[in-house]
Amino acid sequence: MRICKKINEVREEIRKIKKENKMIGFVPTMGYLHKGHISLIRKAKIECDYTVVSIFVNPTQFGPNEDFERYPRDIERDIKILKNEKVDLLFNPDTQEMYKEDFKTWVYVDEYSDILEGKFRPGHFKGVCTVVLKLFNIIQPDKAYFGLKDAQQLIIVKKMVDDLNVPVEIVECETVREKDGLAVSSRNIYLSKEEREKSICLYKALKKMEDLIKNKKIYESKILIEEGKKIIEKEKNVELQYLEIVKISNLKRIEKVEKDVIILGAIKIGNVRLIDNIVISML
Ligand code: AMP
Repeated sequence: MRICKKINEVREEIRKIKKENKMIGFVPTMGYLHKGHISLIRKAKIECDYTVVSIFVNPTQFGPNEDFERYPRDIERDIKILKNEKVDLLFNPDTQEMYKEDFKTWVYVDEYSDILEGKFRPGHFKGVCTVVLKLFNIIQPDKAYFGLKDAQQLIIVKKMVDDLNVPVEIVECETVREKDGLAVSSRNIYLSKEEREKSICLYKALKKMEDLIKNKKIYESKILIEEGKKIIEKEKNVELQYLEIVKISNLKRIEKVEKDVIILGAIKIGNVRLIDNIVISML
């Protein structure tokens, strides 16, 4: 596996690969790799001829009181995993390589970025879109793989690509879960044993809402959200940040569930924020 820390090195390598007419698959990550990331990498490996993974903990998507400094990092372990998966190139730049001192240009998807996660993490999606577009410009992939785990991010990136005519296909990948249903996340290591047990309440609430829709034919968002909230509010020391039902195409809230909606939620347990969602494609 080739490891590049510099943009110029990547460009040189990509130029060669493009000349060979190889299809490039790209998986952007912040590292501390887990089976969620690995599922994206495996999909890219199946669908493309050359697979690039980036590991970059992007400072511009973290707020001033967020966990940028203590975000888990273990590059040696990640490299082993990527070699094992037979990834072709790892792009692992440092902050100065991605953001020069006089960096001034930002990408912002209006409306989509200030709701749900964006309300609790102001500026987050501006940082995400900016770094993702930079990475696309550096790697020039044919396909890029994103997890549904971060559904709002996926929808916003798709919108950016569509609005700005970025020549890349965004491939969405199912959320990988632990046995009890908790969505796998690098941040799960922050959870104490007791918090880990509580953490499942978000998934339980989403499943309950899905069950009410599919089996009880209850479609009123208000009622569904109340039922979901009850499950989360039963847990002590768990703060519900939001639980919303929106259209998957534009993230707009809806009063009555129809097909192609997504239920998104976020909770905070101690210092740890967890997000999850469930897609309702059919009623
Ligand atoms: P991160 O390193 O957390 O920024 O995630 C990098 C990519 O992996 C994003 O597209 C995430 O949506 C995706 N991802 C993270 N966790 C999971 C998961 N449990 N299942 C599927 N994809 C995931």
